[in-house]
Amino acid sequence: MSPKKIRKERIVVKVGTSSITNENGGINIHQIDLLCRAIAGIENLGYDVVLVSSGAIAVGANRMRLKQKPKDLRLKQAAASVGQSELMHLYSKFFGEYGRLVGQILLDNDDVENPIRRENLQNTFDALLENHIIPVVNENDSVSHTEIESEQKLFSDNDMLSAIVAVFCGACKLIILSDIEGLYDKNPSTNPDAKLISRVENIDESIYALAEGSGSNRGTGGMITKLQAAELATSRGVDVLITNGKNTDYLYDIIDKKHVGTLFVAKE
Ligand code: ADP
Repeated sequence: MSPKKIRKERIVVKVGTSSITNENGGINIHQIDLLCRAIAGIENLGYDVVLVSSGAIAVGANRMRLKQKPKDLRLKQAAASVGQSELMHLYSKFFGEYGRLVGQILLDNDDVENPIRRENLQNTFDALLENHIIPVVNENDSVSHTEIESEQKLFSDNDMLSAIVAVFCGACKLIILSDIEGLYDKNPSTNPDAKLISRVENIDESIYALAEGSGSNRGTGGMITKLQAAELATSRGVDVLITNGKNTDYLYDIIDKKHVGTLFVAKE
């Protein structure tokens, strides 16, 4: 993946399933509204934002009134198909309220690996962003199964997808919104005395040693996939921030260069 020139007005925001669904798996409409409002607010300050959103399977399962999270691949892909269009409907509605247009981009491995498709994709991102349209990106779950359950794990989950998208777009920043304030010195869901780490210059073995998998049954990758994503993005010149998606005002704080969450500093 060839790095693009870094554009200081371009930001990728990734939102996890746990940030846009409720404990019972229902859609957290209030949270989606707040997220769209904050992103539209940042755009009004002169930034162009790409939104990478998980949540299609959870939202689809809820709309299909499935009693539990689907387990077999066919049903997961059906839920992804229902949930993706439902999610786009909500993003289009709420961003529309704040005067913004959205465009859907669904990706799978081939789009990133094949040079011609990759170039087409970069052109699509550029054309959307130059026209101030917010690309809403997800893995193409109803066709590909890399995010759902993969041996290959190219994207491993949308954390890695968001890092790839950030490099693709020449974004200066990737903001990963999670269900937690940032990276702690141990897993805070099992260690109440865990301390937030505010800045990481180098993602090495000692940093990976702090991370475990997902604490919630709605989350997917946990902290490990976020570190892998941060390692890729920072190595290509993109600053990465992990912070809590529940407080969407953090997005303004990040733009104001106030300290929130964990910053993984880009390599030159
Ligand atoms: P999301 O759905 O927002 O992507 P995940 O549940 O996949 O969120 O990942 C975040 C979770 O990772 C945290 O809630 C926590 O349970 C777990 N985790 C494991 N190790 C750490 C750590 N060192 N610091 C912070 N969170 C950690």
